[in-house]
Amino acid sequence: MNVKSLKAPLAPGATIGILGGGQLGRMLALAAARLGLKTHIYSDESESCGFLVASSSTRGGYHDHDKLEEFAATCDVVTFEFENVPDATAEFLAAHVPVAPGARALKVAQDRLFEKDFIAGLGIATAPYRAVSDEKELVEAFRHLRAPAVMKTRRLGYDGKGQQIVRREGEAMLAFSSLGGVPCILEQFVDFEFEASVVAARARDGTFAAYDPPKNEHENHILRRSTIPAPMSAEKISHSVAIALKIAEALDYVGVLGVELFVAGDGLIAVNEIAPRVHNSGHWTIDACHVSQFEQHIRAIAGWPLGDPTRHSDAVMENILGKEVERWSAYAERGGGLHIYGKRVARPGRKMGHITTISPKLSL
Ligand code: AMP
Repeated sequence: MNVKSLKAPLAPGATIGILGGGQLGRMLALAAARLGLKTHIYSDESESCGFLVASSSTRGGYHDHDKLEEFAATCDVVTFEFENVPDATAEFLAAHVPVAPGARALKVAQDRLFEKDFIAGLGIATAPYRAVSDEKELVEAFRHLRAPAVMKTRRLGYDGKGQQIVRREGEAMLAFSSLGGVPCILEQFVDFEFEASVVAARARDGTFAAYDPPKNEHENHILRRSTIPAPMSAEKISHSVAIALKIAEALDYVGVLGVELFVAGDGLIAVNEIAPRVHNSGHWTIDACHVSQFEQHIRAIAGWPLGDPTRHSDAVMENILGKEVERWSAYAERGGGLHIYGKRVARPGRKMGHITTISPKLSL
């Protein structure tokens, strides 16, 4: 396939196309604007909070080739803010305009089995896992792994959607059928001490820059809080960053990626999953780092040098979920670090905003 590549760094005034118009697209557009770059957001939703801040926007389907072609013609590079962009859409666009990160990163991240095989193939620890595509495989998988285990659909799962904890073979059977009998993986439950993540960027020339890893706490599988620094030794931090570097290099990645980690008391660091995009656990970088993950992603895909990812402050980032946003005036009282995404409907658990509280940096 003929894939377009970027010939020279984009100058201010150029246009970055973004597939997806949620809060990640919105914050990418805001960061691009600061650098004098325009953004064109393409989304299939009628109300995307990214539309409110982008230079231009198109509502169109991800399989509408005419609209995608028109969109591509207005962009100098295209990126995406969610990993479930259909393969065919990314491939179609890549024939018209440079797309970053590339189709390989999308393919790997969209399927939990490909993702685990890819990570394990690099010699990086993951939870022990087995593919489950029918009941026979399920029985074998459950016998091979120790209970409890987590049954996850291979595709289209996020924030805990499409997954269930199972303790007995019968429960595993029920989980498999309640997930629709679609291809799944069964993973051993990792008895982690805490979850962390590495958010890092790789530029077009291979330069790599990682942010300090936060400790991430989830509620109902949704990120509630990221705390920086995480309680990790310098050795564990450099091991985690080395994992992210290995993954980025193996994918010949361009842009920001998130690597979600389980950190166990015995020193084990296992990769849970990778996100080929800016990541919720990197939102604190807007308020506590010289260059945020959003600017870093724009720099990388625009062919610019990466910025300085150093954190100047310690930080706690909390998501504002669902109706919590109605307490906006109480958040505003806290004095700073408030980001509200402008979404109209506050469904339960929906990410409506976040607030980052910074404090003087106490340690490396
Ligand atoms: P995921 O959608 O795979 O990112 O999973 C969402 C959350 O479920 C993770 O952040 C963990 O808190 C939890 N989880 C997923 N897989 C496992 C596992 N194998 N062991 C323990 N907890 C898990």
